[in-house]
Amino acid sequence: MVIGRRGVLALLSLMAAGKARAGGRTVAVIGAGMAGLAAAARLRQAGVGVTVYEARDRIGGRVWTDRGWPGLPVDMGASWIHGVRRNPLAALAQEAGLPLYRTSYDSGAAFRDGREVAGLPDPFDLMETAQDAAQEAEDDLSLREAVQGLADWRILSPDRQGRMRAAIYRNVELEYAADWGELSARNFDAGEEFGGGDALILPGYDGLAAHVARGLDIRLSARVVRVEARARGVRLVFADGGAVTADAVVCTLPLGVLQSGAVVFDPPLSAERRAAVAALGMGLLNKLWLQFDAPPPVPAVDWLTNLNAPDDLWPEWVNPGARTGLPLLLGFNAASRAEEVERWTDADTVASASDTLRAMFGSGFPAPVAGKVTRWRGDPLAGGSYSFVPVGADAGTRAALAGADWDGRLHFAGEAAAADPPATVHGAWLSGLRAARALLA
Ligand SMILES: Cc1cc2nc3c(=O)[nH]c(=O)nc-3n(C[C@H](O)[C@H](O)[C@H](O)COP(=O)(O)OP(=O)(O)OC[C@H]3O[C@@H](n4cnc5c(N)ncnc54)[C@H](O)[C@@H]3O)c2cc1C
Repeated sequence: MVIGRRGVLALLSLMAAGKARAGGRTVAVIGAGMAGLAAAARLRQAGVGVTVYEARDRIGGRVWTDRGWPGLPVDMGASWIHGVRRNPLAALAQEAGLPLYRTSYDSGAAFRDGREVAGLPDPFDLMETAQDAAQEAEDDLSLREAVQGLADWRILSPDRQGRMRAAIYRNVELEYAADWGELSARNFDAGEEFGGGDALILPGYDGLAAHVARGLDIRLSARVVRVEARARGVRLVFADGGAVTADAVVCTLPLGVLQSGAVVFDPPLSAERRAAVAALGMGLLNKLWLQFDAPPPVPAVDWLTNLNAPDDLWPEWVNPGARTGLPLLLGFNAASRAEEVERWTDADTVASASDTLRAMFGSGFPAPVAGKVTRWRGDPLAGGSYSFVPVGADAGTRAALAGADWDGRLHFAGEAAAADPPATVHGAWLSGLRAARALLA
């Protein structure tokens, strides 16, 4: 094949571009959670020299599988791939050879005083009416104000109100990790979701992170304390006094870390980005895994609802043994209840949960042999579980957190900056890919 002069020039410029991409440009990614790993993997694929700096001694961030119980890995952070249809994480799990274990909210049973109870109160009509009312109000309202302002709520007896309140806790506050008095009635559920139902990764969610991390240059135990704009790039300073520079940075620090001020940005971030960091909420969902010496004597359903709890502790339990026989149960608390329980000792936490299980299933319910407790609020590298939309914030607030500062040298990604859907692993993943795309463009 003969190449003319124009062809040679085109080839030379392609080669030069290839050299710049393969050998020249460097990107530092802060954080080896799913957002950081997604960004790094995409950039590396495009030939960019990319290094990930992670403060912990492990990758995954809020995807964290504890393997301390032999043969019984338990996820202390994310558990579910929410909406497996067309979800990039479902494809990734398949690629990684990780089987998905489908769970369904239809597979559930509710208990009070040792007996199964049918017909749970459904709060969704009431909440929809409250959201409509909030849209028409002059200013945004909290979900609590919007619900309690409805005539439909005021005509309920105190007992019915109590049950509806507990249903809102189970269905909304546990999912969004914030109290109904904090959540924006208009926008708490903003963001598109994938369909197709949810799935657990019983061998451990961290398998996904490990799969993506293969071949990436990741520096563990590297806690960034300062991010400085330089004339031609960005400098990262670490807690041990070391420093590196790169042409650009993808910052996936969790919202809780950004809000804490533990990492200094010099010069300060744009006013819009700082306002977004302050306006979003960092929620709290804590987990308790209980191990039994045999599969616990509960019905073979995925979800076990506790209707005993007057103070709403341990309202929902997941039974991963429904079709597997695993000797495990997983309990949750969220928002202010979780803040309170987070201050308890492990022994008191397990004792409280065991009391609840005996109240649900009867006094003969076996005692667990071990428990594992999460404390996400007290984790300085997370500062909470995941973000939520407080009164006055909306999807635009997340959009203002995403994007770039410092003339495109400092890009932001992570679950709080994700549009569709935020506060999830796949949201974090997609936001990392988006930051990489923006850098490559
Ligand atoms: C209890 C719980 C249950 C959840 N359940 C689900 C679920 O079932 N399904 C779902 O989709 N989502 C769930 N989530 C949310 C999901 O885990 C997160 O949205 C997602 O993992 C966030 O990924 P990320 O990359 O944005 O942040 P992270 O995973 O937090 O990654 C950020 C990384 O930055 C690191 N870092 C922090 N500070 C520094 C520093 N100064 N220097 C360097 N590195 C630093 C952190 O250690 C971390 O590794 C849950 C979260 C929790 C806590």
